[in-house]
Amino acid sequence: MFREGEPGSCAYLIEKGVIDISALKNGEPYRLALLGEGDLFGEMALIDDELRTATATATEPTELVVISQDYFRERVDKADPIINVFMHVILERFRATHQVRLSGDYSVPRLPGEAPSWVDEDIAGDRDQALRDLKLQHELEQALEQDELVLHYQPIVDLRGGHVVGFEALMRWQHSQRGLLPPGQFIGFAEKTKVIVPMGLWALSQAPLVLKRFQHTCDQVSPGRPPLYMSVNISSGQLSTLHNVDGILEALTASGIDMRCVKLEITETVLMADPKAAAASLKKLKDVGLTVAIDDFGTGYSSLGYLHRFPLDVVKLDRSFVDSMLRNPASMKIVRSIAHLAKELELSMIAEGIETEAQFQQLLDLGCDCAQGYLFARPKAAAEVDALLKGGTNLVERRPR
Ligand code: C2E
Ligand code: CA
Ligand code: CA
Repeated sequence: MFREGEPGSCAYLIEKGVIDISALKNGEPYRLALLGEGDLFGEMALIDDELRTATATATEPTELVVISQDYFRERVDKADPIINVFMHVILERFRATHQVRLSGDYSVPRLPGEAPSWVDEDIAGDRDQALRDLKLQHELEQALEQDELVLHYQPIVDLRGGHVVGFEALMRWQHSQRGLLPPGQFIGFAEKTKVIVPMGLWALSQAPLVLKRFQHTCDQVSPGRPPLYMSVNISSGQLSTLHNVDGILEALTASGIDMRCVKLEITETVLMADPKAAAASLKKLKDVGLTVAIDDFGTGYSSLGYLHRFPLDVVKLDRSFVDSMLRNPASMKIVRSIAHLAKELELSMIAEGIETEAQFQQLLDLGCDCAQGYLFARPKAAAEVDALLKGGTNLVERRPR
């Protein structure tokens, strides 16, 4: 079928017959294996472009299925890059062991730290990324264990009355070498690797405790106001099974918080990935008194038809619309429609990212209920928020003009 030392570009599956696999040892053919129906051979050629390390001979009439390198690589390209890296490492080790077994050649194939021969230009970037990802996953798990994650809290204000009504908990990573990292640098990755599940549970156990402290401060500063709430972001991995939903409920219950004071922010994309499962998860959350906000509204699927099927309480208007509405008439039309839709579906509306007085006035005119944004306050550490609240809870009156 092929000889040792030849280039190869396919593997074979034996349907019928017997294949002898041998290699030269001290100049003589040395049998490595005798393969039969259902066995694969020549598979190393699918993974790298090295020469065949053995000779394959059919010892009787044989039927084979040919597996091309393209067929295999198409699948590898879709797989996790870590699998690809490990496959190459295992193959490289196997080739070295094979060499030792046949020729007694113990020479070190490459120096420590030197890039292996299979790392050509095509794969170099993928390999580096895969190794960086492995490291980051480990670092994130450690960050969680070593309390390097922190939550910052951004006040949400009632636009008409001007008072703080709640907060959004936003995660940061106090990295030992790289300083305070924003979520954009690690949340997406944590979602991919499922580390988001314990990270999310950590946020859900932490935020309510801090909320109690804010509520206490608020009671002292503005007695008689309705209790403040805390919004926590929830990723898709955290809702993918009802078991995960139980985890969310457990974390919140352990904090002893009144569930009516907790909002969970879930993006449109998460809901639409599996609408039926999402609706079941949401129902379970709502049943215990939690409120649910649809986050980044307007940026995902145009899921308007689906919206009424989910038990939602709040629509969060994405910052991108707030940012562009006064410059771009189309954007303004979308904001107007979202405001209208929220009203029709009896959902309250929170706008994200208000930075200017003009945006504030516009959203007030459109009937938007609440907002968060740098105009009122940036996300801050708990102690800073507490200090801010002590100065009074009306952040609309205190905004810069
Ligand atoms: P998001 O849920 O859309 O959060 C709002 C983002 O807008 C926050 O960014 C906030 O700091 C920012 N923001 C608020 N007001 C303004 C403003 O006036 N101007 C500008 N330029 N930005 C404003 P941040 O903190 O960087 O968070 C980014 C995203 O990371 C969040 O977007 C959320 O998707 C995710 N995230 C943060 N914390 C968590 C978490 O605990 N769990 C999960 N699953 N995701 C989180
Ligand atoms: Ca959010
Ligand atoms: Ca957003």
